[in-house]
Parts: sequence; C-alpha cells; structure tokens
Amino acid sequence: MNASDIAEQLMQRSAAPREIAFRDLVESASDVVIVTDVALDQPGPFIRYVNPAFTRLTGWQPQEVVGRSPRILQGPGTDRATTAAIGAALRRGERTSAKILNYARNGAPYWLDLRIVPLFDAQLRIDGFAAFERDVTLDKRQYDELEHLADRDTLTGVPNRRALLRGAEAELASRGDGGFCAAWVDIDHFKRVNDTHGHPAGDAVLMAVADVLAENLRRVDLFGRMGGEEFAICMPGVTISEAGAVAERLRRAVEAAVFPTEVGPLRVTCSIGVTAAQPGEALATLLARADTALYAAKQGGRNRVVAVA
Ligand code: GH3
Ligand code: MG
Ligand code: MG
Repeated sequence: MNASDIAEQLMQRSAAPREIAFRDLVESASDVVIVTDVALDQPGPFIRYVNPAFTRLTGWQPQEVVGRSPRILQGPGTDRATTAAIGAALRRGERTSAKILNYARNGAPYWLDLRIVPLFDAQLRIDGFAAFERDVTLDKRQYDELEHLADRDTLTGVPNRRALLRGAEAELASRGDGGFCAAWVDIDHFKRVNDTHGHPAGDAVLMAVADVLAENLRRVDLFGRMGGEEFAICMPGVTISEAGAVAERLRRAVEAAVFPTEVGPLRVTCSIGVTAAQPGEALATLLARADTALYAAKQGGRNRVVAVA
C-alpha cells in the first residue's frame, strides 16, 4: 500500500468519528455556543442549537430556547447601540464581536465577550450564525474595581485629587453660571501630630478627619484629598453664605471629634477657606482663591473659616 492509499483509508475510517469528535468538542467546551438561523428581523433569529455551557451559564435548557430568539437573554442593562451594531454587521454578512450584558433565566446579569460568525451552506449562502460567548463578568468587575481604585486616595479611601478635579470640572462646566462654591480644608499644626505621636498616629487622624468631613457633606457635594493634610470640597447650587455655613459645620465637627489612634485619643482642628465661582471662572482660579482664603484663616489664628466672595 502506498502512502496515498493509507491516507485514503485513514480518512474513510475517521470520517464518522471526526463528526462525532467535533460535536463532542462543542459540547464539552467551557465557552457558550449558540447557533441561530438567518431570520435577523423580529421575532427572529431563532435558536437552533445551544451547547451545555449555555445551560450552565444561563439556566435555560436547550428545549426551552430552541425555536426562540436570543433576545430573551437581553434585559434592561443590555446596551441597545451594541445589539444594533451586531445586527447591522450580521445583515452585511460580516463576523462581529462585542462585549454585552445578558441575563440568566433567574434574572442574574452577566457580561459576555461574544463573537458571531456567519455559517455557509454548500452554495456559499449564509444559512445561520454561530455565536461563541465567554462569561467575562469577573473580569469586568475587576476592571471596574481597578477604575475605582485609580480614583481613590490610598490612605483615606476618599476621592483623590485627580478624581475631585475631574468631577468638579464637569460640574462647573455643566452650570456655567454662579451657584458653585469651593472650600479648601487644611488640618492645623498637623506636623506636630506626626512629630509628637508618630506617623502612624498621624495617618489614623487623617483617615478619621476624612470620615468626619465626608459624613458632614451633602450627597451632591464633591470631596477629595488634595494631598498631605489638605482636602477640597466643591458645592454646587449654594451661595457663598450657605457654603460658609457648611464650612463652619465641618470645622466644628472636626474640632469636636476625638480620634482613636494607637497612642490614644487625639484631637485636631482645621482651617477652611471658602469662595464662590464667578461666572465663567476656571476651576484652577476658583481653587486658588479658596487657598488664599485658607491662608487668611491660618493668619487669623487657625481653627476658623474665612469666606471670600
Ligand atoms: P498649618 O497649621 O500651618 O497647616 O501647619 P501644618 O503643620 O499642618 O502644616 P505643614 O504643611 O507644615 O505640615 C503638613 C504636614 O502633614 C507635613 C507632613 O508631615 C504631614 N503629612 C502629609 N501627608 C501625610 C500623610 O499621608 N500621613 C501623615 N501621617 N502625615 C502627613
Ligand atoms: Mg498643609
Ligand atoms: Mg496643615
């Protein structure tokens, strides 16, 4: 027997097992596989096949979904622009991929990284679509957490300078007019806390002061640690006298608080500079004026609020 005979025999022998093997592969894959027909218009397309990974992820049995549309997997958080883009690509006969939120049978949402390819018949006409889908819910959550971490001050957990500036810029731009005040808070003689009680005690005080400030703000106020022992607050929709009153409330709350540290309870005071945005004013000049007001509060003896219009 020559080589091509052997090859011929092998191919004949493996023809049937090969088909079974392909089905086994799809059935044992950990990724979801869904095959639909070509009827892209509502109420289609209709599901022809789903693999066991589909049932594991969604809770739907094959017999419950075959003949129905994959739209049953979508829900309120499913981005319509993404589904529209997928539909448009498939109508053009193109393969497509997307990240999309779908819902399991019990309503639990999951993020999918999906890829859809057209299937062709013997005449090379499209006669269906196959979707390969990977559950990336955990990746997405980790990504969101990382994004969250990048916006947080690592010591106090409150928004950092970058996040506060970004939020305040957006808020200021969306208002355009007045009614936007900024406060700059600086802990008094904080260097002494470190020098007398050690850096870890200083850290504990910083964390606790951040908590006191955050607890005494409105939900709409933007708050962040600007660095060191300094915090900034942006207050939309308030007059300078209202902002001055908020700052006074914050000052008293810090003054009244007793902070537990490893060296025992400590107390600190803070000084606050407050100012109101002029129409069309840039955030940087607004914050610079708040800082100047803060300087005046320090000069005036500390543990006080200075408000300048
Ligand atoms: P003033 O009343 O004029 O504000 O005096 P001050 O001592 O608070 O001001 P100064 O700016 O001289 O010192 C700030 C100190 O804050 C210096 C530094 O040791 C301390 N500090 C800055 N960041 C941290 C931190 O993350 N942890 C701790 N423990 N201390 C910090
Ligand atoms: Mg300072
Ligand atoms: Mg200070």
